[in-house]
Amino acid sequence: MSIPFVDLKAQYLSLKEEIDGAIQNVINDTAFIGNSNNKYVKAFESAFSAYLEIDHCIACANGTDSLEIILKAMGIGVDDEVIVPALSWIATSEAVSSVGATPVFVDIEPDYYTIDATLITQSITSKTKAIIPVHLYGHPADMEAIMNIAGKYNLMVIEDCAQAHGAEIEGQKVGTIGHAGSFSFFPGKNLGAYGDAGGIVTNDAELAKTCRMIGQHGQPGKKHVHYMEGRNSRMDGIQAAILNVKLPHLEKWTNKRLVHAHYYTKILASIVKTPKTKPGYKHVFHLYVLETDKREKLIAALGNAAIDTAIQYPTPLPFLDAYKNRGYKETDFPVAIEKTRLIVSIPIYPELKEEQIQQISEIIKNIK
Ligand SMILES: *Cc1c(COP(=O)(O)O)cnc(C)c1O
Repeated sequence: MSIPFVDLKAQYLSLKEEIDGAIQNVINDTAFIGNSNNKYVKAFESAFSAYLEIDHCIACANGTDSLEIILKAMGIGVDDEVIVPALSWIATSEAVSSVGATPVFVDIEPDYYTIDATLITQSITSKTKAIIPVHLYGHPADMEAIMNIAGKYNLMVIEDCAQAHGAEIEGQKVGTIGHAGSFSFFPGKNLGAYGDAGGIVTNDAELAKTCRMIGQHGQPGKKHVHYMEGRNSRMDGIQAAILNVKLPHLEKWTNKRLVHAHYYTKILASIVKTPKTKPGYKHVFHLYVLETDKREKLIAALGNAAIDTAIQYPTPLPFLDAYKNRGYKETDFPVAIEKTRLIVSIPIYPELKEEQIQQISEIIKNIK
């Protein structure tokens, strides 16, 4: 039996009636657009901020816009620099460039793949305005060290939580530790809509107000009043209604991911390098990422059994064609370079079955 990398269909079937009903309700109400009085979007914003224990949630169109809107609301733009990790999805650095600022890449920690906080200070210049730590694969970045540096140099911290819904440090959820948090609800994320969707969270009321205005064409909520030029970045009513059905299941799904991860680790820890979790941190296993020097063989062996794998990511951000003009050398980001040659992600999602984990692990164990 084939095993997909993620199985969105299995999750849909487990909630089919509720989801179908929620979509029908939005259609009956013609509540399609997430403007300031859409009750489905408002309900999601309240529920998600309650879940995170944070004051404000502003729904938006996707998890790239959320980063971009936060940067813009903080007044970050041309001539500014923003520190980002060398390993992430391109959205993290793209958002920085989109507002006219320059992403400055910093290498990652060898054990957790998140930005190496000990290397941040040497990358700070008089132009540095913010740091965007990414809680990559679902493991929180070292927020204590990052917030200390930010305090010392007067920098803003925007947490990219696109892969880390519900991840925690000492019981505090990510997204609530920095000045603002950015979430993606892309279908394959730990909390996923049925299309693009994103969210901004913060405890800063002024920042929240500005973010909301930017995403709504600069409107403060009144028709024909525009305080500024903004943009169109709204969450659809249908996406909000789907997320409202799914959010109450998130903790249970996260627990299942953790159980699966522990089971994989129990079988595989002596064979390949399995993911580590920093003491006091809660990893939410958006991805289960192994390291092995037999990566090609592993991908081929699982592929032969119709089991999907992925590499997140094969190329560190500084070496993407998009940043070719920056002229980086491999020795600038030695850890990211080494890791991207060894990492491989195997299927993990709440609906994965114990037998499937055994089957996948058995194949990995037998690789010569
Ligand atoms: C998915 C992702 C994003 C972007 O989210 P979209 O909703 O697809 O725009 C940003 N950062 C990281 C780390 C991601 O994984």
